[in-house]
Amino acid sequence: MSADILYIVVPCYNEQEVLPQTARRLQQKLEALFGEGRISEKSRVLFVDDGSRDRTWELIEGLHGENPLFCGLKLSRNKGHQNALLAGLMQAKKHADAAISMDADLQDDIGVIDNFLTEYENGCEIVYGVRSSREKDSFFKRTTALGFYRFMSLMGADIIENHADCRLMSRRALEGLEEFSEINLFLRGIVPLIGYKSAVVSYERGERLAGESKYPLKKMLAFAFDGITSFSVKPIRLITITGFLVFAVSVGMLLYTIIRKWMGATVAGWAFLSCSIWMIGGVQLLSLGIIGEYVGKTYAESKRRPRYFIEKWLGEQETRGREKTGE
Ligand code: UDP
Ligand code: MG
Repeated sequence: MSADILYIVVPCYNEQEVLPQTARRLQQKLEALFGEGRISEKSRVLFVDDGSRDRTWELIEGLHGENPLFCGLKLSRNKGHQNALLAGLMQAKKHADAAISMDADLQDDIGVIDNFLTEYENGCEIVYGVRSSREKDSFFKRTTALGFYRFMSLMGADIIENHADCRLMSRRALEGLEEFSEINLFLRGIVPLIGYKSAVVSYERGERLAGESKYPLKKMLAFAFDGITSFSVKPIRLITITGFLVFAVSVGMLLYTIIRKWMGATVAGWAFLSCSIWMIGGVQLLSLGIIGEYVGKTYAESKRRPRYFIEKWLGEQETRGREKTGE
């Protein structure tokens, strides 16, 4: 049996500072693997340009011109990390037997590719990369990320702690992923739902090689919120429970008021009343907001808008023999 074709999918958004270095290191890695005969020479590095505003796409074109090892996929505009990654994986699925996703900044150690391949050779369809330590991350990033995973699991979303989007997926797993048509993409929640034999490989997370993080706090919070509301209905259940509790308290208050009236006590509890109004009003608004979030999600899903458009593809044109036609 000839060696399998591996695609390394790298989403890039304004990554001109780091791209040349990333490309060089991935090239060395793949060439070493060719030398060992572990992967087919048809393997590629696939850069997805997520509507960058800098020279990222020109750099990708240049790399492709120099060496067909590099392919490029240009999205029609910025669609966010998750969509860019999905676009790259779906493109890779057409040509490869397996795809590994990685960030452009190579914070995920590329040595992990060997371990991914070992697990793949052992028959795993999905291999999750897990960060064993976050010493190189800033204190802020580390704490917020930890809080994120804790909160997610508290809210009942089944995700793998400290696993970001660095993973290997076989063609079969990618075909599974294709069946998920949701617009609110949260890949690390979806991938475990695919199932099949899987494994976890840990690696050290390094520093960003160059350029700056494309995930400021605001984006991170939005991402976390999206993940929770896409994978858990627990917040709505909490609202129901709060509703029950408040109702129980109000019944108690009613009894208390009636008894006080019988006993002839008529002190007007102004402070108490106004506090109750504010508090219950607040709880109600918050609850409505959370429910609204879910309604909004349903609305976005019901429109079934396309997730991305591909503007250009630099790479293999023909799909392979066992591929379905008409794609
Ligand atoms: N990214 C993207 N589109 C975006 C934002 C980010 O494709 O809108 C890519 C980015 O180029 C990088 C990856 O997503 O390859 C992760 O981003 P980053 O390293 O900035 O995030 P961090 O590691 O700081 O969480
Ligand atoms: Mg990064």
